[in-house]
Amino acid sequence: MMNHMLAFERVSKVYGEKTNQTAALKDVSLEVKAGEFVAIIGPSGSGKSTLLSMAGLLLSPTNGNVYLDNVEITKLSEKERAQLRLQKIGFVFQASNLIPYLSVLDQLLLIGKLASNSKGMKQRADRLLKELGLSHRTHHFPAQLSGGEKQRVAIARAWMNDPEIILADEPTASLDSKRGREVVEMLASEVKRKGKAGIMVTHDERVLDLCDHVYTIKDGVLHLDDKVLFSGQMQE
Ligand code: ADP
Ligand code: MG
Repeated sequence: MMNHMLAFERVSKVYGEKTNQTAALKDVSLEVKAGEFVAIIGPSGSGKSTLLSMAGLLLSPTNGNVYLDNVEITKLSEKERAQLRLQKIGFVFQASNLIPYLSVLDQLLLIGKLASNSKGMKQRADRLLKELGLSHRTHHFPAQLSGGEKQRVAIARAWMNDPEIILADEPTASLDSKRGREVVEMLASEVKRKGKAGIMVTHDERVLDLCDHVYTIKDGVLHLDDKVLFSGQMQE
């Protein structure tokens, strides 16, 4: 378990009680190293969100272990996990999940407050908004933004705590193909440039060439499937 930012070791997840159980993940092993950006594709109900929630420390495995920077997260208390989540995990969701009554700037500053790390946060927020081409939207509210802008705010927000792990759940789902590709390029470049570990769940095969590995998941079983990657690249 050396130098892996994020690792799943024979992880299973069973939801529900005895008479009504769903095995959402079955014996899943996965390693995402620093600087690696991996995609997970699979049909609805195959376990993608369950896997991402576990990587984001929002959910614990029924069996097996999840390691974050070689720390076995199942051994931590709920409080320690919450703290680690704020410090090390950046989430980007499909629908950007912005808070309607906060301005663009306040969406970002809230993360600094939650992580009780408010020093220099205003400067950091301004810099991120500039990098993501959003300076002119600083004082706008989500309802005043386009889909692509909202998703960029969600990315800026996810970068606020400089997370080591970047998790994206269908980040392109609400965008046209050009904007979708831009968003994934931003995720990929952040992972590469800063040596982070990234996992993206997607249905969008057109962005798979931006990923280092592609996994498919079906009925809770995960497979490395890099041939999808090469066929995707050949189409270009
Ligand atoms: P995906 O994101 O690929 O659509 P999910 O991880 O959301 O898949 O779900 C995997 C399986 O687990 C599905 O059969 C789903 O119905 C079930 N499931 C997900 N969350 C819960 C839950 N909180 N309680 C019970 N079953 C769940
Ligand atoms: Mg899902």
